[in-house]
Amino acid sequence: MFRFSKTHYASEALGLGEGSRVRLAGWIFRKRELGGVIFIVLRDSTGSIQVVVREPEIGPSQLRSAREAGLESSIIVEGVIRKDPRAPGGTEVLANSLEVVGESDNYPIRKGAGEEFLLDNRHLHLRSRSMWAILRIRAEALRAAREWFDSNGFTSVEAPSIVGAAVEGGATLFEINYFGKKAYLTQSSQFYLEAAIFSLENVYTIQPSFRAEKSRTRRHLTEFWHVEAEMAWADLNGVMEVVEGLVGHMASAVAERGAEELEILGRRFDPPDTPFPRISYDEAVDIAKRKGVDIEWGDDLSTEAERAVSLEFDSPVFVHRYPKSAKAFYHMPDPSRPEVVLCVDLLAPEGIGEIVGGGQRIHDYDLLVQRIREEGLNVEDYKWYLDLRKYGSVPHGGFGLGLERTVRWIAGLPHIRAAVPFPRTITRVTP
Ligand code: ATP
Ligand code: MG
Repeated sequence: MFRFSKTHYASEALGLGEGSRVRLAGWIFRKRELGGVIFIVLRDSTGSIQVVVREPEIGPSQLRSAREAGLESSIIVEGVIRKDPRAPGGTEVLANSLEVVGESDNYPIRKGAGEEFLLDNRHLHLRSRSMWAILRIRAEALRAAREWFDSNGFTSVEAPSIVGAAVEGGATLFEINYFGKKAYLTQSSQFYLEAAIFSLENVYTIQPSFRAEKSRTRRHLTEFWHVEAEMAWADLNGVMEVVEGLVGHMASAVAERGAEELEILGRRFDPPDTPFPRISYDEAVDIAKRKGVDIEWGDDLSTEAERAVSLEFDSPVFVHRYPKSAKAFYHMPDPSRPEVVLCVDLLAPEGIGEIVGGGQRIHDYDLLVQRIREEGLNVEDYKWYLDLRKYGSVPHGGFGLGLERTVRWIAGLPHIRAAVPFPRTITRVTP
């Protein structure tokens, strides 16, 4: 662990014995003065500790700068550890010196600040306890995802963010001017991963995807982090097994290694048992109808329908075999029932809904051309993608998991934008 400008982090100092000498560097989280003694709560990346500042130890001039320093000023404190039951955590630092490194006057974020104000000031709000906890949980979820893929024989592959054609529908494409030609920001790395399976078989990537989502919802960002995998030789069952392993590991790793952070958020999270229940789209429609959702067989599952279904289960639930009409052209039709495709969504519980979408891909050249035409798309745009079906094609499948939706579920967040440091939505591109 690096310790720049300090001998200890706050959480380390809390564990030291009476009389230990420390040099701490951090920010003023709270401050109050009682009978000429200044009590500062110093915050750093690991936690916080109380610092007691008195004239006899530090002299009049440093006492004055401590008194004048506003909340969120950065400070370096040298002092001695004292055990005192009145201090938070039973430990405090009696300061011998206090240097204000960066002043902070009238820190704009106060208790009770509104949602929009906090979003406008996200660059500062990241310092809050709750954002600290969320960022740590997100990092843990990301680490767990990589860890799972890396220890299960997957190779990571990076795909371009600037692309020439749509993967998902054209309605959510961000167009860019690429030296006078049209190009787009990628909606998914799926096609590139499909190319890579012919070399590496089981592959994954974790990178941003971009979608011009025009509706305001609690589960759509315009830029989100996409955890995607493709597996050569995998059928629909294989896809579900991989998703189950990945999501199960992400959930249990965060529950275990992010326990302190979850507690800060007031979140009780029990990682779900595997295997996850599997139901067909037909059954999902029945459940939604029974719960009064307005849905007909053939419609994609609306937010309300997904919510109704996910509330039926206390773990994530797989919904497989949607109608062909509700899904993108590359999904493999079910040979025993051609009106549905071999796809699967994973719905997270508590009404969160879809966090993963995937399935078996069409590996037959003629069938893929036919589906591209049926959807009114241009075969020319998919020339290289079709090549993959011309030279040693294999059955294969894969999926995409939304990192923010998964973090939203695990951390129990009311809105997806809480799950990303700097959210991008239809109405927000700053900070
Ligand atoms: P939805 O129907 O909810 O808009 P989708 O079916 O378009 O999602 P997929 O194309 O299956 O989504 O993408 C795979 C995963 O990527 C989704 O399950 C979700 O977790 C995530 N995802 C998709 N779009 C977004 C978005 N706009 N913001 C955040 N995450 C997203
Ligand atoms: Mg989907």
